[in-house]
Formats: sequence, C-alpha cells, structure tokens
Amino acid sequence: MSQFVVGVSGGIGSGKTTVTNAFAKLNVDIIDADVISRDVVAPGTKGLRAIVEKFGSGILDQGQCLNRRALREIIFSDEQAKSWLNALLHPLIRQETLRQTMDATSAYCMLSVPLLVENGSYKNVDRVLIVDVPESTQVTRSMARDKAEEALIKSIMASQASRQQRLEVADDVIDNSGNESELSKQVLALHQRYLQFANAVAQS
Ligand code: ADP
Repeated sequence: MSQFVVGVSGGIGSGKTTVTNAFAKLNVDIIDADVISRDVVAPGTKGLRAIVEKFGSGILDQGQCLNRRALREIIFSDEQAKSWLNALLHPLIRQETLRQTMDATSAYCMLSVPLLVENGSYKNVDRVLIVDVPESTQVTRSMARDKAEEALIKSIMASQASRQQRLEVADDVIDNSGNESELSKQVLALHQRYLQFANAVAQS
C-alpha cells in the first residue's frame, strides 16, 4: 500500500488528465474517480443490477450498458431518485477507491477526483494538488478538446467550485497556463517532493 496519497483536482480543461498522465509516466499509481464511477455501474456489477431493478430495463442501451443520459434525465427531475442513486453509488465508489488505494504499490499514489473540492474528499488525502489555469484558458482548451460550444463549457464551469475555492484548499498548485515543457518541470519538482514526504512517512 502507498504510504502517502495525493489528491489531484482542477476545473474542466485545467489539465488534470495531462498532469496525472505525466505522473503515471514516473510510475506513480493513479486512482481515477471518474473511471471508478463508471466501473461500479458496468455490465455485471451489483450497481447496475440495482439500477435496473429500480428503473426497469429501459435504463439500458442496446448494448446492455447503462444509458447515462436517460439516468441523468430521471434524476434531474426527481429528487428522491437522485438521493436513492447517491445512496447506492457513493458507498460502492468509496469501497472501490479504498481498494485501489490499498492495492497501490508506488511510494505515493494519486487520487484524481474532478469534484475533490465540491464533495469534501480533499479532507481524506494527505496532500491536495490543484491544477490551475485562468478561466479563459479552461474555456479555450475544453472547447478545442471536446469540440464543444463555449456556453456548454461555461455552464459546466459554473456548476463546479470556483478557481478561488479550489486554491483555498490547495497544498500545492501546478500553474498549467504555460506550455507542456513548463508543466513537466513542475511535475518533476513535485514528484521529488512527494517522494520525500512518502519516505518520511515510511520511516516514521
Ligand atoms: P482536464 O482533465 O482537467 O479536463 P485535460 O488534461 O484533458 O484537462 O486538458 C484539457 C486540454 O488541454 C487537452 O486537450 C490537453 O491536451 C490540453 N492541454 C493540457 N495542458 C496543456 C498545456 N500546458 N498546453 C497546451 N495544451 C494543454
């Protein structure tokens, strides 16, 4: 098990995935909350079985996978269904996150959580790393990556914590407003720092 867990977050388009990919190349185990939240409702899971029992098989797409859009529409207009779904998924996600954290073997591991600040899980990690860019950069990079309209990106940003709220809980900040080589220098420096923290914990 890794002795030290770094939680990573940032708003849409800030560069979380780019940053965690760079740490993964340094052999740091990455636990991705987005992937876990999809895995717990994959075909054959008890999560998906419970959802089908509750909402009927119409909630599946033709490939027997969860139709996320249909589910989103249901919970958008039905508070009770939303609470039911949260009560089902949160423990499953928590359990799987814990399992992967226990299984991590790198000196320290990273837990990437898009809503780390919003859902309070920054309190459960040893260190919080925020990937930060100006909002205008979030918009341009997300639009280019997702081929999405500016209004959509801005509405997602409005539903997330503000830049200021994220920076307030940060122990470390990566400024990703520059180019990829500037990013990689910051990643290397933080990697050395996190190795030292992990060593100190291992020796204590
Ligand atoms: P997030 O996971 O936070 O939504 P991504 O890592 O997907 O963000 O980055 C958003 C987009 O910006 C991607 O297309 C990525 O390749 C690009 N990107 C990330 N960092 C940089 C950078 N320093 N310079 C230029 N483009 C970048």
